[in-house]
Amino acid sequence: MSIRFRLLLSFMSVVVVSVIVFALAAYSLSVAVTGDFRSISRFYKVHYSVHPLSDEEDNLFIDLKYLAKHDPKRLKEQLLLEDYDQQLKMVQAGLVVRDDEGILYQTPTLHDVDMESALPAYDLSNRSIRNTMNVGNRFFSYAKFDFYFSSETGEKGSIFVIRERSPFAEMIRTLLPILIGMLAAILLLTGWLLYRYVTRKIIKPLDALRQSAEHITEGDLTFRLHSSSRDEVGQLVLTFDQMRRQLYDSVQLQLHYEENRKQLLSNISHDLRTPITTIKGYAEGIRDGVANTPDKLDKYVEAIHTRASDMEQLVDELLLYSKLDLNKEPFSFEQLLLLPFLKSIVEALAIDFDNEQVEVSWLAEGAEELFVLADQEKLKRVVVNLLSNCLKYMVSHPKRITIGVEVKDGFAVVKIKDNGPGIHPDALPHIFERFYREELSRSKAAGGSGLGLAIAKQIIEGHGGEIGAESLPQQGTSIYFTLKIFEDRR
Ligand code: ADP
Repeated sequence: MSIRFRLLLSFMSVVVVSVIVFALAAYSLSVAVTGDFRSISRFYKVHYSVHPLSDEEDNLFIDLKYLAKHDPKRLKEQLLLEDYDQQLKMVQAGLVVRDDEGILYQTPTLHDVDMESALPAYDLSNRSIRNTMNVGNRFFSYAKFDFYFSSETGEKGSIFVIRERSPFAEMIRTLLPILIGMLAAILLLTGWLLYRYVTRKIIKPLDALRQSAEHITEGDLTFRLHSSSRDEVGQLVLTFDQMRRQLYDSVQLQLHYEENRKQLLSNISHDLRTPITTIKGYAEGIRDGVANTPDKLDKYVEAIHTRASDMEQLVDELLLYSKLDLNKEPFSFEQLLLLPFLKSIVEALAIDFDNEQVEVSWLAEGAEELFVLADQEKLKRVVVNLLSNCLKYMVSHPKRITIGVEVKDGFAVVKIKDNGPGIHPDALPHIFERFYREELSRSKAAGGSGLGLAIAKQIIEGHGGEIGAESLPQQGTSIYFTLKIFEDRR
């Protein structure tokens, strides 16, 4: 549900609830005050117990009271009573007169009401009271006056001016304070619930966003923002967190690049320094006359030449690697029959394989007609690199290299497998990184620049293929690369 809809709903519910509450309150007040559902002119102050009668009724009651006080005997005159009753009836009230015997006069309109048992007892200490009473399920308000018909005989009498009221009105009157209290409580509760709702759904997430923005300003990107809701605020929170994550990733990448750059510089310096130191040593040997025989001199010069060649090769590799890395090395692709191409490379290295007593075997049935689009020079470099690694790292006999070519998902897969020492699983994911050399091979004389596989990776990726390795210690190494098969040979 969208926030806008929620707000609309909340707003409407507030309005509806308030309107209903106020309408109810006003209606209840009106009913409670007037008892006739019509007027609120004599508001709540008209309390039946205090004001059971209207002004006209009250005037008649005062008249009757006056009579009771000064000429009580007249209150036994039927005609007089009927006359008063008639006047009271005009204002919707009735008259009841009581003596020792019981009801002396009861207004005919209330003839079906058992007044005798309901009316309050004669009580001189509380002779003039105004109150309400229930007779059956009917509700009356009345004013009573107790007197003596005759002080000599002590005959007691009571006059009642009675008016029927709506029991509902009485109920409302009694319940009104509770009702208003309840309505106020409901309003407060609704308001509080709405406040909580809006706070939880909008204010809190916005607060969290603000705090997150502050974190970002301070450079802290490691926190996480959560939101389970799908509304606009929830989406905002998620987008914000996505932005934070991207920012975090780019900062990490930046740091990684920086670290790489430092590592690269340190590796280059180190790899160049070693042969330079050696060359310097041999040159000093010659200068200082240590190479004092032609033999020694030859050896020294040869050593200097070898190191200088190593340096030259390293610098070449570095140059090629950086060109490939910067995409500045152009590729010249041409159609190539893969298997003969691979075989020619192996052929060219035959002397090295013979010297090392390496047995090369092929697993390439069905691959004779495979054409690929490749840059011959660069692809040759890859294959030579891989084969040289096999030669470099295989130490114990028998030394075997298997070259496999197969077709998989429209790609030619070339696999060069040896039975050498293998690569430790910890090192395996890193061998294609520049300057990476497994700890063991670092100490070995065989170890190279650590750029061979990195260059191979660049070249293969430049061909749109991929390169990978499978190896287990003591179980040989298998390096494979893929090349897109070239179908159209025209
Ligand atoms: P290097 O010049 O050191 O050979 P590479 O990039 O060619 O650098 O290889 C990276 C590392 O991968 C090597 O140092 C070596 O530890 C490991 N490696 C590569 N090929 C083989 C292999 N055939 N057998 C064992 N280890 C290998």
